[in-house]
Amino acid sequence: MHYIEQISINGEFVTPHGTERFDLYNPATARVTGQVRLADEVDAERAIAAAKAAFPAWARTTKQERIAALRRMQAAVAARHDDLLEAVIEEYSAPASRSAWMASYPAEVIAQAITALETFEFTAVAGAARVEMTPLGVAGLITPWNSDAGFICGKLAAALAAGCTAVIKPSEMSALQTQIVTEALHAADLPPGVFNIITGRGDRVGETISRHPDVAKISFTGSTQTGKAILRNAAENFTRVTLELGGKSPTLILDDADLDQAVSLAVQAGLMNSGQACVAGTRILVPLSRQAEMEQALARAIAAVKSGDPRDSTTEVGPMVSEKQWQRVQGYIRKGQEEGARLLAGGEGRPEGTRDGWFVRPTLFTDVHNQMAIARDEIFGPVLCMIPYRDEAEAIAIANDTDYGLSALVLGGDAERARRVAQQIQSGRVLVNTLAHEPQAPFGGFKHSGVGREMGAWGIRAFMEPKSLLG
Ligand code: NAD
Repeated sequence: MHYIEQISINGEFVTPHGTERFDLYNPATARVTGQVRLADEVDAERAIAAAKAAFPAWARTTKQERIAALRRMQAAVAARHDDLLEAVIEEYSAPASRSAWMASYPAEVIAQAITALETFEFTAVAGAARVEMTPLGVAGLITPWNSDAGFICGKLAAALAAGCTAVIKPSEMSALQTQIVTEALHAADLPPGVFNIITGRGDRVGETISRHPDVAKISFTGSTQTGKAILRNAAENFTRVTLELGGKSPTLILDDADLDQAVSLAVQAGLMNSGQACVAGTRILVPLSRQAEMEQALARAIAAVKSGDPRDSTTEVGPMVSEKQWQRVQGYIRKGQEEGARLLAGGEGRPEGTRDGWFVRPTLFTDVHNQMAIARDEIFGPVLCMIPYRDEAEAIAIANDTDYGLSALVLGGDAERARRVAQQIQSGRVLVNTLAHEPQAPFGGFKHSGVGREMGAWGIRAFMEPKSLLG
């Protein structure tokens, strides 16, 4: 059993004022594996005060000093790779390929911020004015459970690169990862107060941070619903926000697509992180003229996906993170059938060979209409919809007929045509015949998928305000 009893404020591990204990689970066994003592509003106030006190000195550091600090941070986090890997498997039951990425990404994302900072221009000339990019102040960084260590490191590296100090509120479900990252950050020897990490409930610690007049910026990753609450709270003090929210991403297969390649990429895009990924391509748009062959190929591919023990290297889909999420996914599988969609693979219940954990059957529906709940709502599980379209114009219209706009994938034989289609999709990111990631490019969503961008120079700029000096 893991007992996590301390939070980090002003460079020290301290016992929280909050006394509530929160159970930690292993989703593969549905058993309690530990407890974390949660911070409360008083702890949030203390953390904000520490970050505020540390801000003036950190804001005056040079680019070289910040790069040196980020390098220490990167090395310290990289040194904890094996511990992070074990924590990710225990806390989220991520299957092998995903957990390997989740353990190495936190150090990688710091390295990416260093690269962006090295060429970042802090001043510019605009006519007669000298424009200085100025750090905003204390940043509140709020992260979701589904890549907690990566989001803590990515947001903190960008905030520090900009000259901000930070109060971090990780997901309460990620205490193991958070503990490892916090220990690594202590080992990186950053000035006291520059970062503070307080695991607590969203409606207590998260609310305190997002309403606080001494917090100048919120960078949040999580659900659209929580994003709206944060935006409302932030309005009170004109707190700047970056919101990375949910998605219902389309995978648009054009009629000239190579079947094998399209099926392989569509399945990978849809089942990423066991379907619990903001960018998951959960709406697969297929041409009516090729619907039958694509149904057959996709059904075969989804039925062959192994869902089960995350420690088995052949597993591609692990369990859902919580019982609540398991119930939610089951509910949508039922709803899809009630709405008249045709089940091609998977269905309700647990996959064969699994027992107590929150395992689900990778599920594929066809004859889905874009107005059905399974096509509109972010399910956050391995439940995919095939939506037939008549022609390219209708495909683009369906792809854009969603509240979301985080990511999209276009698959086609003629790359030029696929790119033309990609340009007409309203989404922060559109991939053409690839699932590659570009860390220097901005990442974020249109519409209800968010506000603002992270990564690269965009990510650093999001923690700054331009100041024009004249005369
Ligand atoms: P969530 O919104 O429930 O929680 C995210 C964080 O917000 C947690 O730390 C939580 O404690 C906190 N929180 C909850 N209520 C709050 C409040 N009122 N004020 C302040 N903070 C509050 O999301 P989750 O279930 O942890 O994560 C899954 C969601 O995150 C999905 O919707 C997914 O699409 C989204 N997500 C988006 C991205 C992206 O980059 N766009 C990446 C990963 C996940």
